[in-house]
Amino acid sequence: MDLIVATKNKKKFAEIKAILKDLKLNLSSLADIAHSPRIVENGKTFQANAIKKARKLARFTGKLSMGEDSGLCVDALGGAPGIYSSRFSGKDKSDAKNNRKVLELLNGLPLNKRKAHYVCAVALADKHGLVGVVEGRCDGVIGFELKGGSGFGYDPLFIIPKYKKTFAQLGEKVKHKMSHRYHALENARKIIKKYIEKQRRS
Ligand code: IMP
Repeated sequence: MDLIVATKNKKKFAEIKAILKDLKLNLSSLADIAHSPRIVENGKTFQANAIKKARKLARFTGKLSMGEDSGLCVDALGGAPGIYSSRFSGKDKSDAKNNRKVLELLNGLPLNKRKAHYVCAVALADKHGLVGVVEGRCDGVIGFELKGGSGFGYDPLFIIPKYKKTFAQLGEKVKHKMSHRYHALENARKIIKKYIEKQRRS
């Protein structure tokens, strides 16, 4: 079964591939599709954006498609950057600039006021419309400096309290068993399995 993922983010795609590897899907991403459609992320929630990505790609390819929208929500910032996580530092965004902005905004706050969580929404659609939408969450705290070299985005700042280490320090094996993406994809896995069964029967 083909599954196309509506992302051009190579690291995100690699995580999705790793977490779903046992399903033996033929996974490809927007980066593999010539003249892929431009998808404007203008939804007000992670789920709305994920649904939009999945629907648009499914209409374009005619195949089962996955939309994924994720981000970091910091309690002390009223949930920001949230759905604006990738472009938090503006037009010339980069992971380094986004992380710097978070650190600046939290400057002076002690660890107990630095609670945050990641959210990941995953939507599945085919040429007939939406197949399902699920969400996953992972709780942590924002560190005082960048630590570690693994992962992407805010991972060098995102500390898992149980390990007292950032996702970037813990590495992918640990991240892929407890991240927001892992939890969302575990829920998506059930939907995909049912979908495959249904296709087989029809
Ligand atoms: P999206 O591609 O619009 O969903 O934006 C996702 C953004 O949220 C990324 O560019 C990161 O800034 C942040 N983000 C989402 N998931 C993760 C993660 O697993 N680690 C670190 N940052 C993440």
